Amino acid sequence: MLFREIIGLDDVKQSLIQAVNSNHVAHAQLFHGAEGSANLALALAYATYINCENKQADDACGRCPNCNKMSKLAHPDVNYIFPTAGGKSVISENFMPQWRTFVKDTPYGTLSDWLEHIAIKQGNIPAEESRQLIQKLSLKSYEGGYKIAIIWQSEMLNIAAGNALLKVLEEPPEQTLFLLVASSSDKLLTTIISRTQRIAVRNFTDDEIVSYLTQKQDIGPERAKQIAYLSDGNLNHALEIAHKTDDDQHAWFANWMRMCYALNILKLVPMADEFDAKGKEYQKAMLEYGLSIFREIFLYCHGGENLIRLEGDELVFVQKFSNVLNISNLEAITNLLSESHYHIERNGRAKMIFLDISLAIARLMR
Ligand SMILES: [Zn+2]
Repeated sequence: MLFREIIGLDDVKQSLIQAVNSNHVAHAQLFHGAEGSANLALALAYATYINCENKQADDACGRCPNCNKMSKLAHPDVNYIFPTAGGKSVISENFMPQWRTFVKDTPYGTLSDWLEHIAIKQGNIPAEESRQLIQKLSLKSYEGGYKIAIIWQSEMLNIAAGNALLKVLEEPPEQTLFLLVASSSDKLLTTIISRTQRIAVRNFTDDEIVSYLTQKQDIGPERAKQIAYLSDGNLNHALEIAHKTDDDQHAWFANWMRMCYALNILKLVPMADEFDAKGKEYQKAMLEYGLSIFREIFLYCHGGENLIRLEGDELVFVQKFSNVLNISNLEAITNLLSESHYHIERNGRAKMIFLDISLAIARLMR
């Protein structure tokens, strides 16, 4: 990852570069940003810049042997720690091939994306991980530069792992850097936080997401704007919307709502099977899409027509459904959609969730 591959965030990039060039690199830093932010991407670009043999004013060169190894996540002096199933033998080292594809394909991916990628339900960073890391960091660096540990989702360090890490943060070995990456730093041990220099990574702005989608993903400006609006500064989510759900998302959702309104059980049952077969990410995206549409209906009912950012079929849908809904049933439907999202996230049975919510929405629309 290079700084120039990350859209926007020039102020953070500049201060990181400045720290390197003025020899003020703190030995432990916490890249803190919400899910779908550039927290990991910035830590990777920073580590690349530190290792680069031909640093430019605003980025690593991207061509030297060190940059090359960094881009493949194969630099011998950079250790990656991330949640795994835990246990003595199951540590990050064993998951490097999966980690490389994950970071390459989804550098803004979330914890649940990662766990899905390695097919485990619950992840953590066990004490064994800290122990092995400390051992590795006590060895000499291969390339003569810094030894770097990048700890992604560091809030998943279990207590024993956190305490072991804390000891080494208090008395760090020479030429060693710890780059902690977290989304919910409130779950990190406060003693660890107090040992780190905090780097706040803000969410992407709508404009930054639009630039990313139009420049790097070849998405048209109108669609990009719509996706940026739905994704709320979360680039991972924006990419999910852009890739995993297509234009028929609206058609599918609108049809679902019509069947609810008509209480057409004969259609709703096969739809539930179809929904069940789609996979968790699609299901979550569909419910999130529903939430955003109901938010628009809510605005519309409140006379905020000019605040509505939709057009075409979606706008027609919002106008029609604003006739059958009022504030109280809108709130109830929104709650239902959020609860279903929660249950899907926790591996509830999608078919049953879909049928339950369909019947409840049908009742509310009557
Ligand atoms: Zn380089």
